[in-house]
Parts: sequence; C-alpha cells; structure tokens
Amino acid sequence: MLEARWVTKHYRQGTNIVAAVDRVSIAVREGEIALIIGPSGSGKSTLLSMLGCILQPTSGAVLVAGYDVSGVPERVLPRIRQRCFGFVFQSFHLFPFLTARENVETAMRLQKVPREARRKTAIDLLSDCGLGQRMDFYPASLSGGEKQRVAIARALAADPFILLADEPTASLDSANGEAVLEMLRHLALARGKAVVLASHDPRARHFADSVYNLADGRLNRLR
Ligand code: ADP
Repeated sequence: MLEARWVTKHYRQGTNIVAAVDRVSIAVREGEIALIIGPSGSGKSTLLSMLGCILQPTSGAVLVAGYDVSGVPERVLPRIRQRCFGFVFQSFHLFPFLTARENVETAMRLQKVPREARRKTAIDLLSDCGLGQRMDFYPASLSGGEKQRVAIARALAADPFILLADEPTASLDSANGEAVLEMLRHLALARGKAVVLASHDPRARHFADSVYNLADGRLNRLR
C-alpha cells in the first residue's frame, strides 16, 4: 500500500549538507501498523513527510498504492495527499469553532461529498471512535484523548488508504494514550488502512505489527 525505496533527504545547514533520512526502505500493507521509534532529531518527521507526499525525497522512490509518486510535479501532490492519506498530529489540529461532528464533516467537503452523506459518515466514524455521545461538543469541552479520537475520525473521513500519525499520544496521559492506540489498531484492521505511526511511546509497541528504529536517518527493523 505504501512503500519507500532507498529514500534519502538532504538538508543544507549553513555550508554543510546533512542527510536527515539516509537510504531508507520500508513497506506497509493494508491493515498493518508500522511503528517508527527514534529520538528527537533522528529524522522521523522528515521520513513521514516524504511518505505522506509533503516533501519530495532528494533521491529514492515513494510508492503509493503501487504508483511511484517521486517524479510527479509538485502541483499534483496535494491531490494525492487528499485522496490517499489521513494525517494525525500530536496537537490534534481541530477547528475550535466547530463541533466534533462538524470537524469530521469538514474533511469531506473537499471531496464534494453531499451534505447528508457527510453527516452520516461523520456520525458513523465518531460512534466507531467511542464518541457517540460527544459529537455535538466543541473541542474545548473534550478531553485530550477525545480530541485525538475526533482527529482520527476526521483523518479517516475521506476514506484514505493510509493513515500517518506523528506522535499521536505525546500530549496524552497513559489511559488516554492507550485508548487512542487501541482505536488506531481497531480502525486499521476493520477498515484495512495502512498505518505509519511515529512515536516515543513505549506502549505503542504492543499495538504495532512491525517496529523500526530510526537513528541518524538510518532505519532498522526491530520486529
Ligand atoms: P525528528 O522528527 O525525529 O525530530 P526531523 O526529521 O525533524 O527529526 O529532523 C532530522 C534532522 O534534520 C535534524 O538534524 C534536523 O535538524 C534536520 N532538519 C529537519 N528539517 C530541516 C530543515 N528544513 N532544514 C535543515 N535541517 C533540517
């Protein structure tokens, strides 16, 4: 579903060129959760950005559903992102002036899904995420774990193939963190999503099918 072949990203830092990600290969199937662990500065965000077609690699290839996106023009990338990816971030990124349901519905507007269908999908997704009773709450009235579950529902709203989650439990206490990981696992399996999870959270290992360590831009499979 998602594959990186020998991807490298170089950044210029002053007069130096640094390899933030160095010849990394990874493949993630549908229904699989791949966990990437690694200290701050090891290249996790850079790798996730390349996997998610936000950043073009300096060299190497990224394949989305078998389609090589490395050579496509910049202007095509937003459409690939919208069609193929859902993104979840540490800090939720919810719209504060929209309810949980409206936050999820908004994600379907770009796809021009009709109003009634948007509403139904949002209600189904939020119920699946255990938020059936909280749909009409604004983010400010939700706990951190609930906000992150809304963000996951929103990321899934346009029915992407792939979910990329960058430290989704870093702002949560342990019970909420676990509920979010459980949710990701359940949704990946039930809906056949490929999930790439970057996390420091040691509990995340229990929820992952494959585990990789990223150190100084080099990726090693641990499990
Ligand atoms: P992580 O997400 O694991 O903290 P990053 O991918 O953010 O790691 O960063 C990896 C390395 O690349 C770090 O050394 C960082 O300083 C460097 N880096 C990241 N973004 C840039 C940039 N835009 N320009 C120059 N160096 C960068």
